[in-house]
Amino acid sequence: MKIAFIGLGNMGGGMAANLVKAGHEVHAFDLSADAATRAQDNGCTVFPTVREAVAGVDAVVSMLPNGRIVESVYTADVIGHAPSGALLLDCSTIDVDTARKVASAAEAAGYEMVDAPVSGGIAAANGGTLTFMVGGPDAAFARAEPILAAMGKAVIHAGASGAGQAAKICNNMLLGASMVATCETFRLAEKLGLDLQTFYDISSKASGQNWSMTSYCPVPGVGPQSPADNGYQGGFASALMLKDLRLAMEAAQSVGAQVPMGEKAEALYASLAEAGEGGRDFSYIIKTL
Ligand code: NAD
Repeated sequence: MKIAFIGLGNMGGGMAANLVKAGHEVHAFDLSADAATRAQDNGCTVFPTVREAVAGVDAVVSMLPNGRIVESVYTADVIGHAPSGALLLDCSTIDVDTARKVASAAEAAGYEMVDAPVSGGIAAANGGTLTFMVGGPDAAFARAEPILAAMGKAVIHAGASGAGQAAKICNNMLLGASMVATCETFRLAEKLGLDLQTFYDISSKASGQNWSMTSYCPVPGVGPQSPADNGYQGGFASALMLKDLRLAMEAAQSVGAQVPMGEKAEALYASLAEAGEGGRDFSYIIKTL
């Protein structure tokens, strides 16, 4: 297949390389010359504009920073410029309303489109082990699945247009809140005089067990290897957790949902970003408690 790939940054670079490895002809575009050069080194053909990259392709995949950019790229340069039968797949994490708005514009112009945000970070993007949560009609999902499977280990149909983004921000709100709860729990355990490895051994086999504790422990030297063992470098940046929590708060407000734990997590990650630590892994929140 000929596939255009727009946005070849930390995530998109590895994803586009995996499409090449799967035998696709990848037409790449990024505003950054460095990102475009890396894509070329990985076997993509780089084009000078989005419109040239999407000409004559079977599908368009995008991995862009935010909803404003996704909307402008699709409305200005993809819709009406990619061939009418091309499938459009946006893998960026963006707000549900913009995802639905762009999909409606695409459908009105005769395209099938899915929102397909990912779980998994840069290592999963490079290794082809992302999890995709997909929103869109059944027929569009059926066409998207084999393309996404070349970049991930799981491709799940979440529901209609926007449902992929809804699942992503709900999952990440739970992750943010559970990381904060795990961090404050270890701090309390420490102040109460517990040995933290011993507390981990107990809680990881008791009802407090959760992913932030047993797969991503925020305490250095406790549990499996995690960013905490590497000075809180790598992993999932606190700034990206803050972005996802803000999207979750916006979504909650738009449907009148009460999310007190999500709100608290958002406030704590906002303080971390203000302190200039947005580049640290999100488990670094333990240092503020
Ligand atoms: P990034 O900033 O590394 O990459 C974004 C790329 O888009 C950059 O190379 C930038 O030059 C390019 N770009 C920006 N505007 C453009 C435009 N108008 N046209 C073409 N290219 C443009 O970001 P990333 O970490 O790769 O994240 C991409 C998306 O994936 C975001 O929506 C993010 O929330 C989501 N995400 C990231 C992670 C992660 O761990 N990094 C995990 C899950 C989801």
